[in-house]
Amino acid sequence: MSSPVFPAWKWFIEFTHPTQAHMHGVKRYVYSGKTQFQDIEIIDTYFFGRCLVLDGKIQSAQFDEYIYHEALIHPAMIIHPHPREILVIGGGEGAVLREIIKHPQVEKLVMVDIDQEVVELCQRYLPEWSNGAFEDPKVDVHFMDAREYLENTDYRWDIIFIDITEPLDDNPSYRLFTKEFYQLVVQKLKKNGVTALQAGNLNTAFFECHGAVYNTLKLVFKNVESYGAFIPSYDTNWGFIIASNEYSALGVYPAKIDTEIARRNINDLRFYDSQSHTNMFALTKDVRDRRSKEKRIIEDDKPLFTY
Ligand code: SAM
Repeated sequence: MSSPVFPAWKWFIEFTHPTQAHMHGVKRYVYSGKTQFQDIEIIDTYFFGRCLVLDGKIQSAQFDEYIYHEALIHPAMIIHPHPREILVIGGGEGAVLREIIKHPQVEKLVMVDIDQEVVELCQRYLPEWSNGAFEDPKVDVHFMDAREYLENTDYRWDIIFIDITEPLDDNPSYRLFTKEFYQLVVQKLKKNGVTALQAGNLNTAFFECHGAVYNTLKLVFKNVESYGAFIPSYDTNWGFIIASNEYSALGVYPAKIDTEIARRNINDLRFYDSQSHTNMFALTKDVRDRRSKEKRIIEDDKPLFTY
C-alpha cells in the first residue's frame, strides 16, 4: 500500500488552547522520549520539515527556524555597538549561537541550558541548527538552571539572550519569567547592557504572556520594546522583547542597520535587514491597544503559566 501525502496518515497536534490547535501531517517520527525535565519529540513533517517539539510545543522547524533565530538575535546585536560578552539562557538547538558568532566583536559566548539531553539530541538530529557553533572556541556551554547560574556569578554581560520554553505548568522555565528573575538579569548586565527574549504569542487572542512579560520588564528596565515576526510553523506573529537602560531598537536609523551588517561582514542573513527591523517593531494598533490593557505583573509567588 503506498502512503498518500494528502491526507497525511499521522498527525502531530499542537494545542495552543484547550479549544484550539494546529495540526501537522507527520512523515516520520524521528525520536520520542522524556528527559529529566521535559518530553521531547523530533518529527519530520510534510510541510515544515524536521521539527523539535518540547512538552507538546514546536520549538523550531527546519523551514523557518532562521526567521525566529535571526529575529531574536540580530536586533540586539546591532543596537549594541560592542557586543563582546554574551550570555544565552536556554537556546537548546544551538541556532542562537550560530547567529551570535556571525558578529566579529564576540569574544566570549556562554550558553546555560538546563537540559543536556535536549542539547545532545539537537546536535545529533538537528545539526544544521547549530552548524558547528558548539565547537567554536569562544563558546562555553553549562548544563544547569539558568536562574541558579545567574544567582551564583559575578560576571557582567553586554547582552543576555533569553531563549527558553514557554512557561507551562510543571516545566523548568516558568521561574525565568518573573520580576525577581528580570531584576537578576539587569544586575548581571553591564550598565549599557541589553537583554532580548522570546516573549510569547502576539496574537491578541493569546496575548496574556506577552503583555505580562512586557509589564514586568517595565518595572526593571527604562526602554522595553516589543516586536514580532511571523513564523509560519507557529502559524502566528511571535513576540520578542528588547530591554535596556541605555539603547533603543526603536530609535535606530534604518540605513544604519544595513551599514552595520555590512561593516561586520555578515552576508548570509535570510530574514533580518533594515526593512525587516522596521516591519518587526511597527506593531499594529490592535496589538498596542491590547498591550496597554494588560496589567498583570509576573512574580515568583504569582507565576504565569500558558497553555
Ligand atoms: N525557540 C524556543 C521556543 O519556541 O520557545 C525556545 C528554544 S530552546 C529549545 C528552549 C530551551 O530552554 C530548552 O532547551 C530548555 O531546556 C531550556 N530551558 C528551559 N528552562 C530552563 C531553565 N530554567 N534554565 C536553563 N534552560 C532552560
